[in-house]
Amino acid sequence: MSEENQVIDIGGHPLFVPNWFTSSGRKLGPETMAPAVEFFMKLLERSQQFYESGGEPVPSVGEFLKAEAERTAAEEWKEDQANIEIRMAMINTLLKVECCVSGTHTMDDVGLGAFGMYKTLPGLDCTFPGGYEGLIDHMMKELPKDIVLYNKPVKCIHWNYTKNGPDTKGTSFPVTIECLDGKTFAADHVIVTVPLGYLKKHQDTFLSPSLPQQKLHSIQRMGFGTNNKIFLEFEQPFWEEDCELIYLVWEDETDLADVVSDVKMSWIRKLFGFNVLKPAERFGNVLCGWIAGHESEYMETLSESEVLQSVTQLLRKFTGNPTIAPRKLLRSQWFHDPYSFGSYTYVAKGCSGYDIDNLAKPLPLKDSNAMPLQVLFAGEATHRSFFSTVHGALLTGWREAERLVSLYTPASGSLSSKL
Ligand SMILES: Cc1cc2nc3c(=O)[nH]c(=O)nc-3n(C[C@H](O)[C@H](O)[C@H](O)COP(=O)(O)OP(=O)(O)OC[C@H]3O[C@@H](n4cnc5c(N)ncnc54)[C@H](O)[C@@H]3O)c2cc1C
Repeated sequence: MSEENQVIDIGGHPLFVPNWFTSSGRKLGPETMAPAVEFFMKLLERSQQFYESGGEPVPSVGEFLKAEAERTAAEEWKEDQANIEIRMAMINTLLKVECCVSGTHTMDDVGLGAFGMYKTLPGLDCTFPGGYEGLIDHMMKELPKDIVLYNKPVKCIHWNYTKNGPDTKGTSFPVTIECLDGKTFAADHVIVTVPLGYLKKHQDTFLSPSLPQQKLHSIQRMGFGTNNKIFLEFEQPFWEEDCELIYLVWEDETDLADVVSDVKMSWIRKLFGFNVLKPAERFGNVLCGWIAGHESEYMETLSESEVLQSVTQLLRKFTGNPTIAPRKLLRSQWFHDPYSFGSYTYVAKGCSGYDIDNLAKPLPLKDSNAMPLQVLFAGEATHRSFFSTVHGALLTGWREAERLVSLYTPASGSLSSKL
């Protein structure tokens, strides 16, 4: 691993070196930018404290942030009236950043009481050479050939000895996995890791018998939104050499709102900015743009060349440089992926950690006398503090594997006492 990836604890994620551009082609200096960022970070911290303290004054993070920003900004910057409007516009950009972090359309959909349940891992992000595929390839080398099947969508998981398909006739396996191509697999246990978006879409048909009511309600209450990346490659960088993150500020967005009024006409306004991929020797001159919400979902319906055209116009406007022209674009389309229907989980208004625990509960639920642990649930949506992340997904996989191992470990006596 590279040195950056060996850093374990540096007391939180370090701040990125930013460049702030505005819609009139201006670049903001640290004297304008730093107070607004600090102000917003403090508000964000306060919104996380209700998880411990309770007593949240409004249901959502968005309502809290906007109301508090409006209430306190004038007081905070009374010595610096000239910059109030641009700083409010910056707060709008930072609200759009939060929509990407939470993977939600608007922060008004994110529950204030549970917001602090999410924990950020300390240290820098870890990126694998060759992407995540490199990690999978490495792990696969340790496994016997042909035990992992790809391109095998599961249509339905039949549990509690509901019979399906010729393969399982006469067997005593409690679970049968029925694939879309008609193939079936009999099993004692199955660990389900499909995204919450998929479960929401197929909640009535993915399991037979259907999911118990309490699980269904939790699936419906939990949030699953869209966040997409738009990669752009340039001949030459237009950003400063040390810049790690480019923010875009619309000078006319002085009223606090993290959604656009007309998605088709103005979707590009939701794109808050770009990460600079580093190091340049490895990636070239590549930026990664971020866009969340319905605006992001609409972006997915456009052709690559339409997106490229909009992003090019955006960059020309914000840099004041009419010659900027990305030479290549690549974007994700998570909302239209039929095996995802979005990006990742957030704790929506009206849902709590109990919903996450509910989703994670194996079937049959405890009060049943049937064969235990037939259907287990892992994946990012099932981790209370690391939902929406890879480490959350990993830990929940280990958690469910451990649950099965315990069932078969004689010391626990669990299997013998249950059979
Ligand atoms: C834009 C973006 C940026 C992100 N950035 C980060 C980051 O910086 N750090 C971080 O930790 N996380 C990040 N994440 C989140 C991270 O990618 C997810 O949390 C993680 O991949 C979740 O893993 P999972 O195994 O729970 O689900 P997934 O990775 O979604 O895997 C579920 C799998 O189930 C498959 N599936 C669905 N339905 C079926 C079916 N019927 N039959 C068979 N297979 C099916 C899907 O095809 C998929 O392969 C980001 C995600 C996005 C979209």
